[in-house]
Amino acid sequence: MGYNVAIDGPAGAGKSTIAKLVAKEKGYIYVDTGAMYRALAIHFLKKGISPEDTAGIVGACGDADVSIRYENGAQQVFLNGENVTSMLRTEEVGNMASMTSPVPEVREKLLELQRTLARENDVIMDGRDIGTNILPNADVKIYLTASVDTRAQRRYDELKEKGEDCDLEQIARDIRERDERDMSRETAPLKKAEDAILVDSSDMTIPEVVSTICSYCR
Ligand code: C5P
Repeated sequence: MGYNVAIDGPAGAGKSTIAKLVAKEKGYIYVDTGAMYRALAIHFLKKGISPEDTAGIVGACGDADVSIRYENGAQQVFLNGENVTSMLRTEEVGNMASMTSPVPEVREKLLELQRTLARENDVIMDGRDIGTNILPNADVKIYLTASVDTRAQRRYDELKEKGEDCDLEQIARDIRERDERDMSRETAPLKKAEDAILVDSSDMTIPEVVSTICSYCR
């Protein structure tokens, strides 16, 4: 059994930035589970399936194979053998992932991949239901959050830096909608596990958040 750190929280709370740095400092593997939902979303988008078409989504799960490899410590996500890592982080793919992740068959498809990675490695795994559902016995559970305005500004800066055209108000609206969907869905909703440590990063620098989390980890 690996040493397992679960880090959950809403969109844009900084989970991936923080988890990558904690992984580096502690020598864990960083597992980004959102990337797996995003890879499946690319599969659904490629097939032209609408997010409301649950039967279509369930059917399309049957011919999607998502796998993970690590190259120089960085997670690479493969969809049916194709490396889709560079396509994952657009708003279109994020929104499709958020709209299709409530489907139980979608979650079921990724559950074993996530648990196997945690069993075989020391990991810090980020997502929405890691501490509550995927790794209920994780050694450390963190619930990382920040205000909507802070999260929207961070996402805006990230997209701008990549040269993507974006609108701050629209991003804030998307974040609110995504929070609402992730928190209110029936299967594995986003919520703080009872034994998770709450970290609100709104007024914290990245190094402060990293050292706070590292202080709880082996
Ligand atoms: O974290 P990220 O924005 O990449 O996740 C995209 C979407 O995937 C989330 O909005 C959420 O709906 C879904 N997700 C999930 N469970 C996880 C990770 C992501 O439902 N463990």
